[in-house]
Amino acid sequence: MGSESYWLDTAPAFSGAQLGALPGQVDVAIVGGGFTGLAAARALALKGASVVVLEAGKVIGEASGRNGGQCNTGVAQDYAGLSASLGADKARAYYQAYESAVQSVVSLVEQEQIACDLIRNGKLKLAAKPMHYEGLARTCDLIRKEVDADVELLTAEQTRAEVNSAQFHGGLLQRNGVQMHVGRFGVGLAEAAARQGALIHQGTSVVDWKAQAGGYQVNTSKGSLHAGQVLLATGACQHGGLGWYRRRIVPVGSFVIATEVLPPSLIEQLLPGRRAYVTSRMIGNYFRLTPDNRLLFGRPCAVRHVGQRQRRQKRQSAASGDGADVSAVGQCEDRLLLGRAGGHDVRPLASGRSARRCLSLHGLQRPWRADVGAHGPGHGRCHGRQRRSQPLA
Ligand SMILES: Cc1cc2nc3c(=O)[nH]c(=O)nc-3n(C[C@H](O)[C@H](O)[C@H](O)COP(=O)(O)OP(=O)(O)OC[C@H]3O[C@@H](n4cnc5c(N)ncnc54)[C@H](O)[C@@H]3O)c2cc1C
Repeated sequence: MGSESYWLDTAPAFSGAQLGALPGQVDVAIVGGGFTGLAAARALALKGASVVVLEAGKVIGEASGRNGGQCNTGVAQDYAGLSASLGADKARAYYQAYESAVQSVVSLVEQEQIACDLIRNGKLKLAAKPMHYEGLARTCDLIRKEVDADVELLTAEQTRAEVNSAQFHGGLLQRNGVQMHVGRFGVGLAEAAARQGALIHQGTSVVDWKAQAGGYQVNTSKGSLHAGQVLLATGACQHGGLGWYRRRIVPVGSFVIATEVLPPSLIEQLLPGRRAYVTSRMIGNYFRLTPDNRLLFGRPCAVRHVGQRQRRQKRQSAASGDGADVSAVGQCEDRLLLGRAGGHDVRPLASGRSARRCLSLHGLQRPWRADVGAHGPGHGRCHGRQRRSQPLA
């Protein structure tokens, strides 16, 4: 068992990084080499801009290389509620924006021929309670009427054929969502950005930037450069300075684990449709199969709970000598931007339930022994310490 993200561990190494000195001057300096920074770098380079990506660690080393790999359509909110509060036109526009976002990822994969095991098997939202099923039925009717005729409501029996569990009361199937190997996608995206001319410097932390004639002086751990514009793409994970931004981001803890490789017969029995599955609970769980047939399972949680759970499970695993074979795929923080949450009360999500408990809630059989025993890279805890011990600039 390794401490590296499963996705990164099973992706090719990024070969397009710059090893020399920083350029003196660029049109755009991008801070952060996750999906946001890399996709922007590629797009800007394609338009002829000179671009540098300044990445404190390595490309897709944070949330982008540690997530569920689901690229789903459909708004996260209940569509009927969205339509009631915003009006049918706006709700439809939101829904379509998700659809076109998925399509832009698919187009990017096709244009750059990124081998990332992309499959379009859709998303099945599972009703955890009878009243959730009633809500999904109303939502399904409205979505079919207003925006997407291809969604389908599944009965409990049909859902049982999709997920071999008696825990669900039905489901809403949205067929457009895709899944991928995010490690291969991210490395492919970085290679594509580099191929288009973006300069990607890893191990280069941006400390701050100052306005100067014609742009900004960007100061990094490896020297300074002049940029016409600066694009901040740091996600929730921020190294170096940038305290003004850090204070405006609320990190949301989230984790993903993956089992050992499961036999095809078991997969056929448990999840034959290989879709992305999410539950209808307020803090939902999600699960899917990886390209090499592991069951990946994730949910948002409080970062401190992940740390506590991992320490406890490590102790249990060591004490029992149990050869748990579950890899940590990702333990990281996503973000909420304060002031961009549409006026809603923004709170970090929290839950301390273990993955094992979540799995048993779904009535899934556990074909593997024990569970996590994995040692994630501890990014979440590191964030917690940073916030407590470092006065923000
Ligand atoms: C466990 C988990 C599961 C998820 N599952 C899904 C999913 O299934 N589907 C989905 O769509 N989304 C999912 N997400 C969300 C998704 O991963 C993120 O929204 C996305 O990766 C954010 O990309 P980003 O480029 O904005 O940020 P990041 O990937 O966090 O990249 C930011 C980069 O900036 C760098 N950086 C920070 N500060 C500095 C600095 N001062 N100088 C230089 N570099 C700096 C960091 O090192 C990092 O590499 C999940 C997230 C998590 C944590």
